[in-house]
Amino acid sequence: MKRIAVIGGGASGLVAAIAAAEGGCSVTVFEKADRVGRKIPATGNGRCNLSNLSLKCDPIMDEAYHGSARGLFLPVFSGFDLDRTLDFFQSIGIPVRAEGDRLYPYNLQAASVIDALRDRVERDPRIEVRLDQEVLAMKRSGSRWQIQTSAEKSSFDAVILAAGGKAAPQLGTDGSGPALAKKMGLHVTSLSPALVKLQLDSPYCKRLSGLRMDAAVRVLDGEKCIRACTDEIIFTDDGISGSAIFMISQAATTFLAQNKQPLLELDLFPEMETEELYALIRGILDHVSWKPILDALNGTLHKKLIPVLLKETDIGKDQSASSIKDGEIRTMVQFLKHWKLKVTGHGGFKNAQVTAGGIDGAEIGTDLQMKRFPGLYAAGEVIDIDGDCGGFNLQWAWSSGYTAGRNAAKQKG
Ligand SMILES: Cc1cc2nc3c(=O)[nH]c(=O)nc-3n(C[C@H](O)[C@H](O)[C@H](O)COP(=O)(O)OP(=O)(O)OC[C@H]3O[C@@H](n4cnc5c(N)ncnc54)[C@H](O)[C@@H]3O)c2cc1C
Repeated sequence: MKRIAVIGGGASGLVAAIAAAEGGCSVTVFEKADRVGRKIPATGNGRCNLSNLSLKCDPIMDEAYHGSARGLFLPVFSGFDLDRTLDFFQSIGIPVRAEGDRLYPYNLQAASVIDALRDRVERDPRIEVRLDQEVLAMKRSGSRWQIQTSAEKSSFDAVILAAGGKAAPQLGTDGSGPALAKKMGLHVTSLSPALVKLQLDSPYCKRLSGLRMDAAVRVLDGEKCIRACTDEIIFTDDGISGSAIFMISQAATTFLAQNKQPLLELDLFPEMETEELYALIRGILDHVSWKPILDALNGTLHKKLIPVLLKETDIGKDQSASSIKDGEIRTMVQFLKHWKLKVTGHGGFKNAQVTAGGIDGAEIGTDLQMKRFPGLYAAGEVIDIDGDCGGFNLQWAWSSGYTAGRNAAKQKG
């Protein structure tokens, strides 16, 4: 029976092992932690956003993935698409529900997803999981692959590298996957944190910390918008986080890596045109004209934002609503729809959900085999492809794991 080694027992590695076993192989999963799938319980804020309904519609796919290997998404996904993914989860006892486009396990418990995957793997006599075994090196020897772990040396017909990237090292991924690939002589593009919070040069962060709201966020290069997203933002002690920030973070971190100063522009009223917002504020101030402006705006803006707005527009907080002139309202509207903030840094790999960068797409065939190293496959985040927030990264992990597992099993010895 053909023997396959899977390096890493995370999202992609477990699906790769199942697919290779279903393809008739004997599979050994090497996992350096004391249990498999440590990251999964932390995903989707403990709810595991495991895929996204928009993947049913082709055009979105190109936009949702980034990196030199993004062209691999379509061929890989077509072999294990959304319907097959949902059938697979159903088959291991995980029905799925949608919240908007985001897909979650029906009980909204990420822990159930890893429990079900672990159970599926443990019940399969063709799969053996070796825990606490970090793979230190792999090399080709004749037609076979030698794997050197912290505890043993063994040989296999094919290897699937599914050791993740560098994001969230506290959950087991410290970059050893890309490092193993590099050691083999594969080209690995530079790694940077993606889906990560941003640090801002603003005196207001601490004051606004904890404030959540929907906003349109744009990353500006001079006057040009290079990435935009409308979704939730959350102010933190030293910057800004939330889904919208995660979505645009890769553009900002790439800028920072080039020693450039990215600028964020926030539109805090994305649902309104400028004139509508002007009319709203004008109307409110007319209705409660006797109130100080600080109180007058209470029902329109979050309480924490009002002093910031007044400071930034040079309006005294004790001024009465009736004294506010049209020009001042226009200045307020300009601020609320075009608040510009300087990005000074990011939360680093420790706070990132994914890694941008990894094994260069040019090294990999659509079967996920390395073009220069027959019998060596890769899956998941170790490859230079990162998805937007919303279940796209786990979908890549499931689809690429399946593709690598199936093709490794099919490959002729
Ligand atoms: C906090 C957080 C929340 C997230 N939420 C979501 C979400 O809701 N939806 C979504 O789509 N994505 C989410 N992601 C991203 C998603 O979890 C990852 O993209 C996905 O898990 C990557 O799968 P993977 O198999 O490539 O790597 P991982 O799941 O990271 O697994 C890699 C495994 O390899 C092991 N390993 C590493 N090096 C070695 C070695 N040398 N030898 C042996 N074993 C090794 C690691 O211990 C780990 O178990 C989130 C990530 C984080 C950190």
